[in-house]
Amino acid sequence: MPDPTPILRASAIEAGYGRVQVLWGTGLDVRPRESVVLLGANGAGKTTLLKVIVGLLPAWKGSVRLDPDDVTAWRTDRRVRRGLAYMSEIGVFPGLSIDENLSVGGQFIEKSALKRRMEELYADFPDLAHRRGALAGSLSGGQRKMLGIAKALASSPRLLVMDEPSAGLSPLFVGQVIEVLNRFRASGLAMLIAEQNIAFLDLADRVFTLDGGRIRFEGSVKDLEADDSLRRTYFGLA
Ligand code: ATP
Repeated sequence: MPDPTPILRASAIEAGYGRVQVLWGTGLDVRPRESVVLLGANGAGKTTLLKVIVGLLPAWKGSVRLDPDDVTAWRTDRRVRRGLAYMSEIGVFPGLSIDENLSVGGQFIEKSALKRRMEELYADFPDLAHRRGALAGSLSGGQRKMLGIAKALASSPRLLVMDEPSAGLSPLFVGQVIEVLNRFRASGLAMLIAEQNIAFLDLADRVFTLDGGRIRFEGSVKDLEADDSLRRTYFGLA
């Protein structure tokens, strides 16, 4: 059977900052209901690629497609209306309440739909429901990350793009984040997760590795583990 049309396809992306080129012909794709992990060390270019995908940084060359549409020149809000959601490493506005953060996340959907969506999310994240009026900045690191995920989900996206959800979290909270994401994965949400923490491979239907702004590997976790040099790089094993 041919592969289904991807929700997202980034092709031959070149991008960077000023005169510094970070991405060198980089590409990846995410299929419907698929969970893809983009694995790479610090400075590999993960954030840069995600920013090009969501429209926060222009591509110098290459293209980004959502479904069949070339969105390379689209602004971020138009991509969000198309079903894309982005969680940056920071993820929330600390000076806004939990309620307000969710409203910002769902700002492009109609008011009554947003209200319903927020109640659904409070049912999924009961810890947040108890403290709706609390400032995001007063939450623990783990709760803040949960709020970041809920905020990104407020627009009912089809594809959730996340930049290092493990950043700043203890292993215990990393486990909780993976558990929550696994629930949404099971419900059919497509995900693209940029990470350096291999614990997130538990969520991966497919893996891309990024090194020096170039994709070095694409395949299953099994294939990644079977490759001696990649295993040494990412798992630290001989
Ligand atoms: P990290 O885990 O550290 O976020 P990353 O894989 O997400 O790593 P990027 O943040 O995309 O990597 O950074 C890739 C390269 O681009 C690095 O060399 C970084 O120093 C550089 N870079 C990132 N942001 C800027 C910027 N605003 N101006 C100039 N160079 C930048």
